[in-house]
Amino acid sequence: MRYIGCHLSTTGGFVNTVKTAASIGANTFAFFTRNPRGSRAKEEDPADCAVAMALMQELQFGTLVAHGSYTMNLCTADPEARAFAAQILEDDLRRMALLPGNFYNFHPGSHVGQGAEAGIQQISDALKKALAPGYPVTVLLEAMAGKGSEIGGNFTELRQIIDCVGSDEVGVCLDTCHIWDGGYDIAADLDGVLAEFDRVVGLRRLRALHLNDSKNPLSAHKDRHACIGEGYLGEKTFQNIINHPALKDLPMILETPNELPGYQKEIALLRQFEE
Ligand code: ZN
Ligand code: FE
Ligand code: FE
Repeated sequence: MRYIGCHLSTTGGFVNTVKTAASIGANTFAFFTRNPRGSRAKEEDPADCAVAMALMQELQFGTLVAHGSYTMNLCTADPEARAFAAQILEDDLRRMALLPGNFYNFHPGSHVGQGAEAGIQQISDALKKALAPGYPVTVLLEAMAGKGSEIGGNFTELRQIIDCVGSDEVGVCLDTCHIWDGGYDIAADLDGVLAEFDRVVGLRRLRALHLNDSKNPLSAHKDRHACIGEGYLGEKTFQNIINHPALKDLPMILETPNELPGYQKEIALLRQFEE
């Protein structure tokens, strides 16, 4: 049994979202904790969340992978904007506690010229503070394509954040498009890349995957997602991923350019790959 899903809107509530997921063959999903390009969030309904949790258990769903806002930059240069981003992180984790045991994934941030070292420190400081209340949520750092001044474009930076935070509640989400664009050749040598991840970060920290093909060649540092099989990674890469012993039990989230029918097709395609 693989846990495969896609990004879904939760504006109709979580119970409806679980039903939508099930209707397209998904058994996990991702959702934005607030407007992906803004900061506005609506408070979740605790009763709706509780019913959704029970329904997911009944349907044997895997762990959900919530996604923080793209605009939340924990290492932006302006101290006031940085404090605001840190507040958003804290608020997201507080609201995630209504869906206990699930994952909260976010883009570590862009240091915008401050340098990677300063950026890593600022991200870690915000994380330490946000994790202090002990909400029942595991936070995942998303591996990035290394576009512009993005932090997390290589495994070493992810490890540095984890070490700085010093918490077991921090894991990693590998986005296949991002790491390919970042220079990790998962098409030719998936085993080699995972061995390097294990050496640098530790496979036990790997908690989720974003499955995206890439519109660009290896090391392009671009971050443009393609549909599965329609980019440089190709179907075979995803066949390998779906069946890899270190990956096959992780929640796998599609972030491909699709509407629901397209996602339904891709989920079915990935399930066909299962050996
Ligand atoms: Zn992402
Ligand atoms: Fe992603
Ligand atoms: Fe991306």
